[in-house]
Amino acid sequence: MGVIKQLPQNVANQISAGEVIERPASIVKELIENSIDAGAKNIEIKIEDGGRDLIKVKDDGHGILADDIESAFNRYATSKIENIDDLYSLYSLGFRGEALASIASVAEIEMISRHQDSDQAVKIKLKGGEILDKKPVGSTIGTEIIVRDLFFNTPARYKYLKTTTTEFSHISKIVSAEATANSDLSFKLYHNGRQILSTPGNGKLKDTIYAVYGSEIAENLIPIDIEDRYIKLSGYLCRPELSRSSRSHELFFVNGRPIFNNLTAKAVETAYNKLIDPGRRPIVFLFIKVNPILVDVNVHPAKREVKFSRSQIIFDVIKKAVRNTLRENDPTTRIKLNQ
Ligand code: ADP
Ligand code: MG
Repeated sequence: MGVIKQLPQNVANQISAGEVIERPASIVKELIENSIDAGAKNIEIKIEDGGRDLIKVKDDGHGILADDIESAFNRYATSKIENIDDLYSLYSLGFRGEALASIASVAEIEMISRHQDSDQAVKIKLKGGEILDKKPVGSTIGTEIIVRDLFFNTPARYKYLKTTTTEFSHISKIVSAEATANSDLSFKLYHNGRQILSTPGNGKLKDTIYAVYGSEIAENLIPIDIEDRYIKLSGYLCRPELSRSSRSHELFFVNGRPIFNNLTAKAVETAYNKLIDPGRRPIVFLFIKVNPILVDVNVHPAKREVKFSRSQIIFDVIKKAVRNTLRENDPTTRIKLNQ
């Protein structure tokens, strides 16, 4: 008899959860992106103890049909794409159909959702991938998800969690970036009952930056707006007088999605070269629009990294656009560059 056996679905989900869910902040990101994809206008995030005790995300999006509520937790089950080509014209944030299945496999998850065409909500509870309860309940249109007991069945992962402060700072960073990326939506973030962040959702990026990053940054912004054959850049650069000791305030959004990308960071840092002290990092909120065919969002399961084709062109366009915008709009930059 052979020794190779198919892993049970549960175990397979737990293993793949390791890639999607590194820490509480990854769950927050996945849930927020689902809310955005559902067309929510208001997203409320409540966290207890850095996400270890509780993560709650509530939205007023279109909700889930009662008939779909179990499928939402199946791996590779998605309403967002149907075939591989759809990836190249992707405008939704999710597409892998992995998040809910992964979260459900390593935590206790409770979801209450009412679809916009339905007059009743369904509440479903799962733990370790098993459905514990499912029943109709009363609720407003939208979806609420509560995650508790994170990593209860994967002690090695639980042990790997850092302090409450560290885990919450990851969460806060993600919510800040998502709120900035979506200034037409209102985000509210609470930690242990205290409100940490609240954005107006009025569609004005500057007001959102003010709400998230404070008045000093908001009052020192220079708008950037440049269109090239391949990419379109918009957003704000901060005057070089303000800088940070890390890349914490270098924010990049590719086709609306907050991303980490070494190439774009390097391009901006090269543009700010000599304008800020060595070792310091600029503050930028740069929205990059490219044809989806030039960017691959599928390189990392958590979708944090993107890969550009024609990366040299992207690098050059960003560097030049940032440098020129600073030169044209910031007197100190002009003086420094002419020295
Ligand atoms: P993906 O987002 O990649 O499709 P998920 O596992 O995150 O996969 O979600 C599975 C499906 O559940 C989604 O395709 C969507 O149809 C539904 N869903 C999840 N969260 C929400 C939400 N907040 N509002 C409406 N539908 C949702
Ligand atoms: Mg998703």
